[in-house]
Amino acid sequence: MTRPAGLPGAQDIDTGRRAVTNLLKPAERREHILRAAVRQGLLDPEQAVLAGFVDLDGLAATARSLHRAFPDSLRVLHAFAAKANCLVPVLAELRSNGLGCEVATAGELTAALAAGFAPDRIVFDSPAKSRAELRWALGLGVAVNADNFQELSRIDEILAARPPRSRIGVRINSQVGGGAIAAMSTATETSKFGVPLADEGNRQRLLRAYRDHPWLTWVHTHVGSQGCPLDLIARGIGQAVQFAEEVNEALGRRQVVGIDIGGGLPVNFAGDEITPGFDTYVDRLREHAPALFTGRYEIVTEFGRSIMAKNGFTAAYVEYTKNAGGRPIAITHAGVQVATRTVFNPDAWPLRIEAHDPLGRAKRGRPVRQDIAGPACFAGDLLARDRPLPLLDPGDIVVLPDTGAYYFSTPFHYNSLPEPAVHGVHVSPCGQVAFELVRPAQAGVRPELRFAHR
Ligand SMILES: *Cc1c(COP(=O)(O)O)cnc(C)c1O
Repeated sequence: MTRPAGLPGAQDIDTGRRAVTNLLKPAERREHILRAAVRQGLLDPEQAVLAGFVDLDGLAATARSLHRAFPDSLRVLHAFAAKANCLVPVLAELRSNGLGCEVATAGELTAALAAGFAPDRIVFDSPAKSRAELRWALGLGVAVNADNFQELSRIDEILAARPPRSRIGVRINSQVGGGAIAAMSTATETSKFGVPLADEGNRQRLLRAYRDHPWLTWVHTHVGSQGCPLDLIARGIGQAVQFAEEVNEALGRRQVVGIDIGGGLPVNFAGDEITPGFDTYVDRLREHAPALFTGRYEIVTEFGRSIMAKNGFTAAYVEYTKNAGGRPIAITHAGVQVATRTVFNPDAWPLRIEAHDPLGRAKRGRPVRQDIAGPACFAGDLLARDRPLPLLDPGDIVVLPDTGAYYFSTPFHYNSLPEPAVHGVHVSPCGQVAFELVRPAQAGVRPELRFAHR
């Protein structure tokens, strides 16, 4: 194993000789956690063939870097986008790290409340809020961003001239354009989200809406997710801020008091480097939306992927290996049920894969091009095609880094494949690994079959 001089290896830590776990590189930390998971039986070739892991120390560090990126002089609520990982204990951990929560359905709102978020630290966005959902959110005092004019009328009806407890905004679509992944781009000309700002007559209609509804005090935008360049996102936010200034100017009062700038900071799925960071993002915002930094506006952010992706990984056993048409194939227990986007849209959502032996140690050896398949019964259930990796054997373990967001927390129930267990992880400074169950594995298999070998 090659490692820069001076860094302790997982072996050293395992024997408890010397322990500086925070000097471990991300891949070494994953290996260290994986070996502990095997030793403690959280991964087992018969009983637990697939599991997700959330690095709770990593999460705290990410939260700190997010808080640090924005100047202390601003009032900022970082509302984590619950859809990226809506497991209640994960949300509770984020809450204890000073974050709020962005929700888009009644289910996510239920999870956010269960995680202990105060209603005024929750933001409800969705293009399809029902009357019942709106009544519930407004009754609680959860912040609401209306998606369209019809929703604004509904809110008006529900409020029935009573002043709201909630912060209420309108989502605008700046129509600045799309990024590399069409399905993730929400600021295209014809996007289904928000009020398209440049469409004929909309600015005037919006201005009237703000004038007629003094409780309309926020502007919301979310330009898009993975695949949107930072400059595109920042330009879209710039438009939202400019629109807020226009409203306040036209009304001759500072009615708009806050801007919700959405999420969408892209994640590097090609390596362990965290790039771009939140600080780079804030630099771009200063360029394109300087008014955000004057202190005139409160700010809400809604990051999801950039908070969670690198703080989680998935691990699965290799059940069988074979050759077909001259190509080696490893059949693993991770496939479409945990990596749905990657399997159905591999070019947009490539994942790294790491090869480990049955004890969880990183496999060395000459890379051999092989397919890494999942367990589901369709030919396309592949995590990777033709991927150079040390040749996998039955009983080996594959690790999928960067799957903390939108992967194991968002299962797909094809083939009645069960949801895997998810474990939270803390690593003490002396290398002790402590796991806590974040979600039990779904009991998807009749126990008499599952345990028949015993
Ligand atoms: C999905 C979504 C987010 C989070 O996007 P990320 O790319 O995960 O940061 C934020 N706000 C809204 C409205 C969303 O739909």
